[in-house]
Amino acid sequence: MIPDRRCFLLQTGRLLSLAALAAAYPGAALARTSAYPFGLGVASGSPRANSVVLWTRILSDPLNAESVKEAPLLLRWEIAEDEAFKRIVADGATTALHELAHSVHVDVSGLRPDRWYWYRFMLGDAVSPIGRTRTTPAADALPTRMRFAVASCQHWDFGHYAAHRHIAAEAPDLVAFLGDYIYERGRYDLQHPDSPSGRGDETITLKDYRARYAQYKSDLHLQAAHHAAPWIVTWDDHEVANDYANDRDERLDDNFMARRAAAYQAFYEHMPIRLTPRPAGAHDFTGLRIYDCVKWGRLAQFHLLDNRQYRDYQACQRPGRGGSNIVTARCSDRLAPTRSLLGPDQESWLANEFARSKARWNLLAQQTLMAQSMSVPPAQSRDEDRFWNDGWDGYPASRDRLLNNMTKHRLANPMVLSGDVHTFYAADLRQDFSRPVSDDNPIVATEFCGTSITSRSRAQSITDQIVANNPHLHYGRSDRRGFMMMDMTPVSSTARFQALDDVAREDSGVSTLASFLVENGRTGAIRTG
Ligand code: FE
Ligand code: CA
Repeated sequence: MIPDRRCFLLQTGRLLSLAALAAAYPGAALARTSAYPFGLGVASGSPRANSVVLWTRILSDPLNAESVKEAPLLLRWEIAEDEAFKRIVADGATTALHELAHSVHVDVSGLRPDRWYWYRFMLGDAVSPIGRTRTTPAADALPTRMRFAVASCQHWDFGHYAAHRHIAAEAPDLVAFLGDYIYERGRYDLQHPDSPSGRGDETITLKDYRARYAQYKSDLHLQAAHHAAPWIVTWDDHEVANDYANDRDERLDDNFMARRAAAYQAFYEHMPIRLTPRPAGAHDFTGLRIYDCVKWGRLAQFHLLDNRQYRDYQACQRPGRGGSNIVTARCSDRLAPTRSLLGPDQESWLANEFARSKARWNLLAQQTLMAQSMSVPPAQSRDEDRFWNDGWDGYPASRDRLLNNMTKHRLANPMVLSGDVHTFYAADLRQDFSRPVSDDNPIVATEFCGTSITSRSRAQSITDQIVANNPHLHYGRSDRRGFMMMDMTPVSSTARFQALDDVAREDSGVSTLASFLVENGRTGAIRTG
């Protein structure tokens, strides 16, 4: 078991870690005292050709989330074309409000496309760590290459964030985070919701969620990955509550919508995202929209999806319960044609983006495995086939419409990126998973699913059976933690599955477990290593 190690990192190993990171990342702040106000680092994200969102939150002591007074704080910020801040291109002042946990979001506009920038914040005489960020290429540009990282699922208690140090070392142009940035519960083995101890350390209130983000964001490896590149982020269930669907959690809690609004507000307060459109009230986060489209010139388009907020409830739930379970093919509700994982507005928004896309590569940056993944052991008859009702397998009509729209709009090189299942998968997506690939059942999209940064998974022997039982899954590894790296050019894309040697070690090395090539105009992954 790992938990004490994480406390050690914060309480006694902090200076040591900081020195190691400062050596690895010369841009990091070198001097920190107990009163240093930038204990959560900085971040940037939601890049456009002329703008990017800069983020920080004033908090001296990440383990004491109430260490800041109620007064608003006036911060200054600078963004420059060089790391030494000799060529500052924009600067200004912004107010960190107590109502938003002293977080700030500066949407800097007027930047030049396709170039790197460096930014920092100042409060009094304290200067934040320096973050590196960039704009996207101009709409009509076709860049020769682009590299991005894909990460998800970073349960604090199950390991170190060495993966984030390795992400930073890859010098990506972008990091796509696909959900489970925090977990609402601590150690699941000790804090099961059905256990006599009840909710244990589970986050319920705004104060709880803010404290959980502060704990996670105190990690210097995670900060290093934020300081290295802009991020695009979506959430999955654990930013709010396990297996929640729309307005309902697994306990059918009457107060769930208040909890969800608190969790959404805390997400906003800790992520480099824009409010688009702005919530109706000044601080009303009940319906925070996070789905977004990020264009990388004509090379790529990232469709960042939200499959939690607008979904139908899971089909064939157990009596008196929400949340997920395994259902058989006899659960006919699962097949209802109206069911949606994205909700009608997001589905039509996405179809519209597909129709208009001029990108060479069309990526879906979304939470969970899209390929059908029947549970094992294999059933004796088709009626007994078993499916997990929380993922895309619980919403097959929604998946059909999405894949149909890719075909209908002749979407170029569709590629689905996924997380949630804590397993590396390479898969082919086709309209009918029960039939082999043929002229009338072609491969519609390529899917790469990342593993988790730290969160635990099932035994590899079970994953081997799942891969054997689902022929469109070409590769599956659940026994290793890590992330994915993608390198795109106009002619091909390469996916690398990067696995840590040992998630329990802060200094873990990393190696490539497998790599795949996708050629322009030819859907499907080719194993190259
Ligand atoms: Fe997860
Ligand atoms: Ca999840």
